[in-house]
Amino acid sequence: MNRPLANGGWVATQEDITERRRAEQQIAHLAHYDALTDLPNRVSFREQLQRELERTRRGEQLAVLYIDIDEFKSVNDSLGHPAGDELLKAVASRLRSCIRETDTVARLGGDEFAIVQTGIKQPSDVMELVKRIYEAIREPHECLGHQIATDASIGIALAPNDGTELDQLLKNADLAMSGAKADGRRTYRFFEPQMDACVRARRSLELDIRQAIAEGAFELHYQPIVNLGSNEIVGCEALLRWNHPVRGMISPAEFIPTAEETGLILQIGDWVLTTACAEATNWPPGIKLAVNISPVQFRSHAFSLKVANALATAGLSASRLELEITEAVLIRDDEAALAMLQHLRAIGVRIALDDFGTGYSSLSYLQRFPFDKIKIDRCFVNDIAEAEGSSSIVQAVINIARARNMTTTAEGVETERQREMLLSFGCTEMQGYLFSPAMPVAKIRMLLSQANNVAAA
Ligand code: C2E
Ligand code: MG
Ligand code: MG
Repeated sequence: MNRPLANGGWVATQEDITERRRAEQQIAHLAHYDALTDLPNRVSFREQLQRELERTRRGEQLAVLYIDIDEFKSVNDSLGHPAGDELLKAVASRLRSCIRETDTVARLGGDEFAIVQTGIKQPSDVMELVKRIYEAIREPHECLGHQIATDASIGIALAPNDGTELDQLLKNADLAMSGAKADGRRTYRFFEPQMDACVRARRSLELDIRQAIAEGAFELHYQPIVNLGSNEIVGCEALLRWNHPVRGMISPAEFIPTAEETGLILQIGDWVLTTACAEATNWPPGIKLAVNISPVQFRSHAFSLKVANALATAGLSASRLELEITEAVLIRDDEAALAMLQHLRAIGVRIALDDFGTGYSSLSYLQRFPFDKIKIDRCFVNDIAEAEGSSSIVQAVINIARARNMTTTAEGVETERQREMLLSFGCTEMQGYLFSPAMPVAKIRMLLSQANNVAAA
């Protein structure tokens, strides 16, 4: 009210007070709520959880769910922060719609959210919430013109079972979340006491990998890929080796998942690409080079540039390079992946679909993406010669590939019988111990220089 008073300013004073009160309320709100999503922040989440924990002393049960958006960083990096912010807001409102009034959902920071679910009678109560969460956030989001598919890793700790103290319970939920991530993400885990040791082992592996990068302890070995008809070497696949001072040679299968989780695969992958391209210039010009690419590398915008750079620096013709990617590249963001494949195509490199048959293996990928080659995973080749084996699947894949002008390479061929069957099915190439395992640089050069690939087999 703005009534002009001759003698005093009490109206103005009262306005001042309301103004100040509003400002104070705003500050109090900011101290307890996250500015972007307007969810309770870490501070008020802890306060709320502390209050709820009091009740568990009276026999009630609660669950703490840690929710981490999978590969949020790559959304931010590739589509920009505004799109990332929109995505977080959308996730926040969907999470809010999943809980009951007595539960709390908060944003702990970054792409981490948490829920306190109260009044739990049995584990299936938690499972129902988890199901609702996945249904809500897996529905594609429309963010600033981009269709974004999200998923999450969820860790769950129960009170009083997994802890009655605030910090302990939060730590256990966090450990369970790391466990879900280590399980390949897109999944949930309940806390288990041995998770602590697992996380410690992974941390020490991460430190070791960092040191290995700094010290140049990685090596590339090369495995010949052979034409099934002529038995000539047509190319070699670069396979990473880590010569660990204590543990000896470590297989990439053991450290690549951790390198991917920590983003260290980007540095390692750059090194692999430049080193392998340089090495291939020492080989006869007809021999192709295959390099494995992690989905993490593939999702970075600069990837096609890096490939072009590696080729130019080495002086290697693009047509000699073949990039091996897995289905994991295609699952998350079809459109970005397709655009990247086309960039790479434009440079002139070939694209192979690695480990075909092990993942989701949707045949529709073969329809939508312009692959040059399918590599049939060794788990199929392994039992191809057995009565109840996978020979009909292998045959079907080879037929599809042939109809679409794609080359097929059978991985892990170990016996003459497997080779014969693959040849009769019309498979183009093979790779495996029957011909040769991966070998160090000097050996592969020697093999390749031997009289025009006189077959080793
Ligand atoms: P992959 O690309 O499917 O490579 C084939 C794997 O099968 C290699 O294991 C190879 O040594 C093994 N192998 C080849 N022939 C036979 C055989 O006849 N029998 C059996 N039992 N195994 C055979 P490796 O070298 O341990 O590599 C494992 C995986 O690690 C690779 O699978 C690939 O996905 C990944 N990897 C290797 N090097 C790199 C790299 O430089 N970057 C990335 N991102 N991933 C890599
Ligand atoms: Mg491969
Ligand atoms: Mg493979």
